[in-house]
Amino acid sequence: MALNFPQLFSLKGRTALVTGGTRGIGAQMAVGLAEAGADVVIIQRDTGNTNTKTAIEALGRKAYIITADLSDQEEVSALTKRVLDEGHDISILITCAGIQRRHPAHLFPQSDWNEVIQVNLTTVWTLCRDVGAHMLTRTPEAGTNHRGSIINIASLTTFQGGLNVPAYAAAKGAIGQLTKALSNEWASKGVNVNAIAPGYIATDMTQALLDDPERSASILDRIPARRWGSPEDMKGPAVFLASRASLYVSGEVLTVDGGWMGR
Ligand code: NAD
Repeated sequence: MALNFPQLFSLKGRTALVTGGTRGIGAQMAVGLAEAGADVVIIQRDTGNTNTKTAIEALGRKAYIITADLSDQEEVSALTKRVLDEGHDISILITCAGIQRRHPAHLFPQSDWNEVIQVNLTTVWTLCRDVGAHMLTRTPEAGTNHRGSIINIASLTTFQGGLNVPAYAAAKGAIGQLTKALSNEWASKGVNVNAIAPGYIATDMTQALLDDPERSASILDRIPARRWGSPEDMKGPAVFLASRASLYVSGEVLTVDGGWMGR
């Protein structure tokens, strides 16, 4: 089927499930999807923060908050059924919630290791499995065979080891492999599975690096684009990977890093 430009990028009629949508990268991705026409189910720990919901509704799209603590595997295991039982036919999944814990490896507490692996990897796996299973039951779109788009949020530590972040690097490295493993099974069934690996993006998560003048300067010095990224830089890539424009892209970890990985 020949698609014109608006058809390639329009997300009209689709519903996305986004974790980590209250702030930072996930908030901009959720708003970007809504700007392209999608309705959005935002998963957040509580209903206190309504900024993203309000921004999406101001665009004329629907936004729903469903609460879950993504560090709690029991809650995560029950989550997809709750979303589907509320009648949301999810065809886009963005797993953006993530946490960071920084300690030298020889002092890294086991509890921090467990929490990072849970939120950044096991929760992502569980949601991919359960939402992916739903996508596989959807009627494929006429003409494209497309059933759904999964976008996991990887990192430069998917490729590099980082400093003082062994749990984060282990989890994000695994996100790259999980993305490829799921793509191998699902691409032929109309479910694209990709990841976005943001570079250094100014958010709450990286505030500690920004506050350290030496680290922050040495990071900046290595970025060919000569600036840190902003959460808004992640909008376009998220819309692209959720849309028909990327129907033949799967198993890809797309770096959005101002050129960092090219050096
Ligand atoms: P952030 O700290 O601003 O946002 C993290 C989001 O995850 C928030 O919405 C937070 O509420 C949510 N979250 C964390 N723990 C949760 C839990 N237990 N239950 C429910 N929600 C929870 O960080 P960010 O920089 O926007 O990061 C978003 C994603 O991008 C993360 O996966 C992160 O690893 C990844 N990432 C960030 C950068 C960067 O430079 N900022 C670089 C590469 C990858």
